[in-house]
This record gives sequence, C-alpha cells and structure tokens, in this order.
Amino acid sequence: MGAATACFLARDHGLPVTVLERDPSYARAASALSASSIRQQFSQPVNIALSQWSLAFLRRAEHELVVGGDAPALGLIEAGYLYLAGDAQAPVLRANHAVQCEAGADVALLPPEDLTARFPWLSVEGLVLGSLGCSGEGWFDGPALMHAFQRKARACGAQFVEAQAVGFDSTGERVTAVLGSDGRRFDAQAVVIAAGAWSSPLGARLGVELPVVAKKRDVFVFDTPARLSDCPLVIDPTGVWFRPEGRGFIAGAAPRDDSLDEAPLEAVDHAWFDEHLWPALAARVPAFEALRVRSAWAGYYEMNLFDHNGLVGALPGWRNAYTACGFSGHGLQQAPAVGCALASLIAGSPRQGPDIGPLSPWRIAQGRRLLERNVI
Ligand SMILES: Cc1cc2nc3c(=O)[nH]c(=O)nc-3n(C[C@H](O)[C@H](O)[C@H](O)COP(=O)(O)OP(=O)(O)OC[C@H]3O[C@@H](n4cnc5c(N)ncnc54)[C@H](O)[C@@H]3O)c2cc1C
Repeated sequence: MGAATACFLARDHGLPVTVLERDPSYARAASALSASSIRQQFSQPVNIALSQWSLAFLRRAEHELVVGGDAPALGLIEAGYLYLAGDAQAPVLRANHAVQCEAGADVALLPPEDLTARFPWLSVEGLVLGSLGCSGEGWFDGPALMHAFQRKARACGAQFVEAQAVGFDSTGERVTAVLGSDGRRFDAQAVVIAAGAWSSPLGARLGVELPVVAKKRDVFVFDTPARLSDCPLVIDPTGVWFRPEGRGFIAGAAPRDDSLDEAPLEAVDHAWFDEHLWPALAARVPAFEALRVRSAWAGYYEMNLFDHNGLVGALPGWRNAYTACGFSGHGLQQAPAVGCALASLIAGSPRQGPDIGPLSPWRIAQGRRLLERNVI
C-alpha cells in the first residue's frame, strides 16, 4: 500500500514522497507473504470495483510500471475463483452473485452437473452449486508487484528510507512531521499510515482508533502427481482453499484458534493440515489423497476487527493525515486501485481510480459497518 501510493503520488502528481520502512527485508510484511490472488467475488460493490480497476492495471502493468525500457513480469494467470456451496452456503452465494452481476463481474452460478463437466477431477459430493469467475480473476506474483511499485516510485523521485515511525508532530489539525524511533524527524505536507497489521499504534498517536490486528494465516505448498485441468482457486464449503502454484499447489484455511494476535510466524500448524486441510482437500479432489506437503509459510492478515474491509482515506480530525490499512486478506489485489485513488485525494486532484469513499475510516466513529461476507 505504501509503495503503490508513493508510486502514484510521484508518477502522476509529481509530488516528493518519502516512504519510511522499518524492515527493508519485508520479512514479516503481508505483501511478501501473500497468496497474491485477485477476485471479483465479493459481497461489497466497493471491493468489486477496486479489484476490477486493479485487474485492468495488472493487465497493463508492463506499460504502467516500466522503468527505462525494463518492464516488470507479474505472471498474471486468469484462471478464476470457484466458490463451492452446500445447502448452508447456497443462499449467500446467490445473494453475492446478484451483487456481482450488478457490478458487471463475469461470474456464473453452476449446478453440480456443470461443475463435473467442467472440472472432472472435482467431487461434487454435498454440493448444491458453484460460483465461478469466468474472467477477471486469478493470481499473480505479489512480491514482484510490490517491487515494481517501489522501482517505479524511485524512478519518479520517491525515496525509501529505513526508519521506524513512532509518532508525529502537529499544529492544529495538521501533521507537520513524522518522528522516527532513532530521533530523526521527517517534515511532511501530508502523511499516510500504511503500516499494515501494525497501523493501530500509529493511529493512536493521532488519537484515531484503527481496529487492526495481526492474525496469522498458514499457507501450505504441496505436490501431487495428478494434473487438474483448468484448475481455478477453489474455496470449499469447509473454508479450505487451494489453487495451482507453479507445478504444485498452495492451500490454506482459517486457523483452529484465531484468538491470539501476532502469533509467531515460525509456528506453522502442520498438525492442522493433517487433521483438517488434507481430509477436506482429498474429499473434494480425490487425487489429493496422494499429495505431499513440500513446504509452508505464514503471514499476517491485517485484520480489521470492525468490518473486515480496508480503511482508506482521511483520518477523522485531521486535514492532512490519511490511512490505507486493514484489508483483512484482500489488500494486495486492491493496492493498485487504492494507491491511485488515495494519491489523487492527497494531491487534491480530480478523482483518479475507483471511488474509495465507502472505505473511509470515518465509518468507525459513525458505527457504520461495511461487512464483507466473502473473507477467505
Ligand atoms: C497468507 C496470506 C495470504 C493472503 N492472500 C491474499 C490474496 O490472495 N489476495 C490479496 O489481495 N491479499 C491477500 N493477502 C492480504 C495482503 O497480502 C495484504 O492485504 C496486503 O499485502 C497488505 O499490504 P500493506 O502494505 O497494507 O501491509 P504490509 O505488506 O504488511 O506492509 C506494511 C509495512 O509496514 C511496515 N511497518 C509497520 N510498522 C511500521 C512503522 N511503525 N514504521 C515503519 N514501517 C512500519 C512493515 O515492516 C511492513 O513492511 C494475504 C495475506 C496473507 C498473510
């Protein structure tokens, strides 16, 4: 989010930008540990609009983010998402489908016999229907996107500085500087809190509640001898998801216990894979009976406990302080759209990108929840 916003500020508005990053290795940054997938199957129109805009950007990223003739390779694969529903989930899927069609998303509801015809490797046991993104959904190289935004931002004059932000100076309703943990002071015309899962303490420094916490999510990488033709990203009614990655697959699910904030990333729950994920995977795709886990990693969802959606825009009570945080597991795909729209808001230009108004952090103080029902 920081790199994307900096890129648009520098590239499209010619503004001087400094990005403060406490850990330039990005070892714990969600953007480096993401499943990097993009979908239009949301329940909130604003999320659909953001992903549609971002998808169009990803398709032309080699032109948008080219630096000196060197175009980024983001490896966008548009293989779709397939949400599967039993009796319990079908009404939600149908309601979401209506919202998605209204927003122009290319999503089809398929009965079990159509699922079998299209994906012969899939067991339709217990299924009532599936919701398939026929175009405009898939996955890409997330770290490559982050790197491409940084490179383009630098090429347009932005600076990336290793520093941990710990506070702000202000006069009246204006922030005048960001304070670093080592005593450095960074004068600023405007500031953006885009610190992912760690945004809340910075919001508190400005007296603004950002109810965002770090929730660990494990991702398992596995191989299987079977080839699944045209395999999309599949979300099973159990909540277990999987998708192809290179020659193998990745998979994940919500953890067995999500009560702990910032659980250690090293503690991947392999037993949970054996007890919960594998049985669900093998029940849905019999060929996964023979899978072999190759590796695993974990990262933090920057979970917005208020309503599981991004908080984007001006901070209440401040004239030049903004945030882009709390995307709750769907932020990487929204980074191009959020970066573009937020940059034009900060620059005071006519709006570029989609309308980010519904994501305003004002909704917390106003008690206006924007509940996203499709959180994976
Ligand atoms: C396992 C997993 C799977 C995911 N799958 C998807 C997916 O398929 N599709 C999707 O769209 N999204 C997905 N997400 C979510 C997505 O990765 C995030 O929403 C997105 O990367 C958030 O970007 P960010 O810039 O807000 O946060 P981050 O990438 O976490 O960046 C925040 C940065 O702020 C720095 N920072 C923190 N505090 C300070 C401070 N005080 N001073 C200076 N720097 C600071 C951190 O070091 C970090 O580098 C997934 C996330 C995870 C963990």
